[in-house]
Amino acid sequence: MDFSQFNVNALMEITSRPELVFVRGQGSWLEDHNGKRYLDFVQGWAVNTLGHCAPEMRRALIDQSEKLMNPSPAFYNQPSIDLATRLTGASCFDRVFFANSGAEANEGAIKLARKWGQVHRDGAYKIITMDHGFHGRTLATMSASGKPGWDKMFAPQVEGFPKATLNDLDSVRALIDDKTVAIMLEPVQGEAGVFPATKEFMQGLRKLADEHRMLLIVDEVQTGMGRTGTMFAYQQFDVVPDIMTLAKGIGGGVPLAALLARQEVCVFAYGDQGGTYNGNPLMAAVGVAVYDTLTSPGFMETLAARTRQLSEGLLALSAKWGMKGERGMGLLRALLLDRDDGPAIVDAARNLPEGLLLNAPRANLLRFMPALNVTEAEVTRMLEQLDTVIAAVRK
Ligand SMILES: *Cc1c(COP(=O)(O)O)cnc(C)c1O
Repeated sequence: MDFSQFNVNALMEITSRPELVFVRGQGSWLEDHNGKRYLDFVQGWAVNTLGHCAPEMRRALIDQSEKLMNPSPAFYNQPSIDLATRLTGASCFDRVFFANSGAEANEGAIKLARKWGQVHRDGAYKIITMDHGFHGRTLATMSASGKPGWDKMFAPQVEGFPKATLNDLDSVRALIDDKTVAIMLEPVQGEAGVFPATKEFMQGLRKLADEHRMLLIVDEVQTGMGRTGTMFAYQQFDVVPDIMTLAKGIGGGVPLAALLARQEVCVFAYGDQGGTYNGNPLMAAVGVAVYDTLTSPGFMETLAARTRQLSEGLLALSAKWGMKGERGMGLLRALLLDRDDGPAIVDAARNLPEGLLLNAPRANLLRFMPALNVTEAEVTRMLEQLDTVIAAVRK
């Protein structure tokens, strides 16, 4: 079937898309309208924790859809209770508010911190965020993000998000005044190009927050739910944050997000926070299935083995092609190119007879975010294909 037979003109143009329509997915593989197969190392941007159309998720969707889809957030439902209990049991947080996207969860975190500032800090409202950070595409989360150019894009910004430099504690300290209520960051900056915070920095932020009676907010929309090798990335830094947000991996591909907070911080009054779909049982049931798979025996050990394989394989490619190494945490990794041919590699990889889906968040860098249950053979295949593509692009 020819692409021109699809009439795509009714869709709003918000990005440049390749001329292909995906019709099917299974695990780490996607299939387009011509039946061509693609090995997917993007997975909806680190979303599909268990790959495409995971049987555990399909089972949960079918079972829950036969029972109850939407009683409304004004009433309790079992799957949201089950998922909240699992998340609080696995973390330092006491309570969960479910949302539908990372941006919405982060909006909730910002509101919660500002409310806490009103209740406990005499109206302090400023939240220090990081240059190059990414927190979403609503007005407040774009203002909290540190993407170059975003400060002017939909001016005026939501005010109160001074920007510090990741891993530079002095740059944070210099921004603190009596109106500063919180510090918010990604433990690993994902969209910026996979830049992990250092342990010293994270622990330094916790200390600063304690000294100045501020909250520490971790945006784990990309890093949470096993992506970095532990259930939550903050656990590898030996810090206890006050607020955390989750999205992407928590739903494994369905729209689900969460705002978690410690009890002392839960200051919302009735009516302060809500949303039509929050905690709807259909999505929450999928979240439970994803969570239970992540915590099933051997899952995280296998993930650790795949992480080592991917990391070593990328290092070997880097050495072979004179690149600048690799970095990351768990299965959120980047290959650092020695030149700006990332987009060319991404295009050539997709156009291979057996396609390979990669992502270049910066021109000199490739990001890898496979399903957490990617197999050894699939990682091997990806590395072989990548080598082929680099050779073709650089010949
Ligand atoms: C993707 C992402 C978001 C935004 O999530 P959406 O579901 O697209 O709104 C926020 N923060 C981080 C760290 C992300 O990676």
